[in-house]
Amino acid sequence: MKKGQRARRIGRLLHGRPTTDGAGVKLVRVFAHGQSGELDPFLMLDEFSSYDAGDYLAGFPSHPHRGFETVTYMLDGHMQHEDHLGNRGDLKSGDVQWMTAGRGIIHSEMPQQHEGRMRGFQLWINLPAAEKMKPASYRDIPAVIIPVVHLDGGISVKVIAGEITTATGSVCGPIGGLSTEPVYFDIDLPPQARCTLPLPATHNAFVYVFEGAIAIAGAALTQGVGAVLDDGEIVTLEGDASGGRLLLLAGKPIGEPVVQHGPFVMNTAAEIRQAITDYQSGRLTG
Ligand code: FE
Repeated sequence: MKKGQRARRIGRLLHGRPTTDGAGVKLVRVFAHGQSGELDPFLMLDEFSSYDAGDYLAGFPSHPHRGFETVTYMLDGHMQHEDHLGNRGDLKSGDVQWMTAGRGIIHSEMPQQHEGRMRGFQLWINLPAAEKMKPASYRDIPAVIIPVVHLDGGISVKVIAGEITTATGSVCGPIGGLSTEPVYFDIDLPPQARCTLPLPATHNAFVYVFEGAIAIAGAALTQGVGAVLDDGEIVTLEGDASGGRLLLLAGKPIGEPVVQHGPFVMNTAAEIRQAITDYQSGRLTG
């Protein structure tokens, strides 16, 4: 830690709420838009985790998106994505799909297993007004190209997006060049292991603990609980007596009005009406 650097502390806690989405997939909504700008540019985080096929089998049949990005991170299981452009991608354990809906995409996300554990996350990241109507695109990122950085104490950090700087240099994740400059780390903290990571001071940041328990600046967070982090240049993470695993996310705020209607996220109500009209008339995707 350099002199004068502020360590981010835990702000508001994020308690996930059980819900269903798609054709009846059971999931936990960790947060959703409408809870102030402290999470800007992030709009929503869902966690899905079940050994019961009845909780996930129905999947997410054909549906539209406009105006933002969805990031799907599979921890366990097998899901297939298909879109109106004819793209098809398989998501298996450890893979990530980064989809930019832009002007519009119509896609399905369907489980490809009838038993076993299905576990992962879907994150929604907003796009600035200037990029909301750009052409849709997506990237399938296989687990093997996601760098894993090993730190003292047996800590490992999967760098899905952003950059991590250690004593031996810096490592960049496979996703870059986005205007929100997202940081997306999956961090495994063994018992009592401790690390300090830099985070851009310009960014809003939050964590979500999905295994065990951790502490940030001495304050404990247990499995299933997230927290918005306050301002600072660094964050200090520590595993509790049995260790823990968390997502650490940060992004540069967009600072624009957000109007959301289901799968459409725009800046004004008129743009939402246009999205609905475009979808109903078959012009969503251009
Ligand atoms: Fe979707």
